[in-house]
Amino acid sequence: MNASVETSSETDELAAAPLRLTIDLGALAANWRDMAERSGSARTAAVVKADAYGVGIEDAGATLYAAGARDFFVAVPSEGATLRAHVPDASIFVLSGLWAGAEDIFFDNDLIPVIASTEQLAFWLEIVAARGARPCALHVDTGFNRLGVSVEEALALADPAARPTGFMPVLVLSHLACGDDPASPMNPLQCSLFRTVAEAFGDVEASLSASAGIFLGSDYHFGLTRPGIALYGGAAVNGMVNPMRPVVTAEARILQVRQAKTGMSVSYGGTHLLARDSNLAVASVGYADGYLRSLSGAGIPLRGTGIAGASGFLGGHAVPVAGRITMDMTIFDITDLPEGSVAAGDYVELFGPNMALDDVARAAGTIGYEMLTGLGLRYERRYIETED
Ligand SMILES: *Cc1c(COP(=O)(O)O)cnc(C)c1O
Repeated sequence: MNASVETSSETDELAAAPLRLTIDLGALAANWRDMAERSGSARTAAVVKADAYGVGIEDAGATLYAAGARDFFVAVPSEGATLRAHVPDASIFVLSGLWAGAEDIFFDNDLIPVIASTEQLAFWLEIVAARGARPCALHVDTGFNRLGVSVEEALALADPAARPTGFMPVLVLSHLACGDDPASPMNPLQCSLFRTVAEAFGDVEASLSASAGIFLGSDYHFGLTRPGIALYGGAAVNGMVNPMRPVVTAEARILQVRQAKTGMSVSYGGTHLLARDSNLAVASVGYADGYLRSLSGAGIPLRGTGIAGASGFLGGHAVPVAGRITMDMTIFDITDLPEGSVAAGDYVELFGPNMALDDVARAAGTIGYEMLTGLGLRYERRYIETED
């Protein structure tokens, strides 16, 4: 179990990296298979927008394709163009739709626009009239009020005989606003509105659920599910034990270990006062690396709310952030660890198997999605492949 095989030849660089990100493609594939199993008879897509939630769209795309995914969702066309080489015969849907000037990238890379308004549909029909018929998807708004035609507009387009020339929908989709809250009355409401649309479209495949919706049960699965965050190990449903395998481990190098005396203060603003003689480890990570300032141990408004600051994981223990996180550095209190057990050059885990992504995100008042997609450019990445 969990035999680890390094696929990177950059081991030396990694040993000296100020920041490193280890991405377990075996866990990513296992999470996709888990989502596919929970999706029952529905097919399972993979959402790889925002550089596959910070994991890297090229490696993630190839891994998910190898695992069996043949439907991919990106946010914007350029992401689809990057993905295409790694998923040769898969469908790539572009969730943000299309606009004037972006047509070429759809045609050049065989991307499918997710049409989000009647104006976009009219524009798309002009384009296909000139360049040849091509499939599209239709986004229907059932209560999110973000993208999509109204239910009435969708129903008017549903009957194949009534469809405008050149309109070749291969997928009709909607998105749940409150899927992360299984008790929300919005879920059955959106589901039943969407069912009306899906039934009217008959032969066209239908898709409602992202990661969270998959956990709501088979009523929510329709023909195709669209998991994102769960593939990357994040929690999709509030208040539920997260069953997914962690995919990303973020670590920062300790630059220095220092002693400080009772009564001294730590970091900007001097907001963290030491109540005892303390050992501090200064790590090479800051808010420029997506280790958000709102994770600070003291000196920010959020800490007045009773939510504790973040902790890292070092030498087998959770170590709290001391004082304010700075742009490039964060100070961890390691006083409770055995004297001499931490040295410059060690790595502190920011999140990963020992420090859950979503627990860290909560300390910042945010969600795992934002932590993953905001990691910044200074991480040395390595891809590993554990087996299950
Ligand atoms: C981002 C997104 C998804 C994936 O959502 P997760 O919560 O990450 O699973 C699916 N569908 C749409 C329309 C999205 O915007």
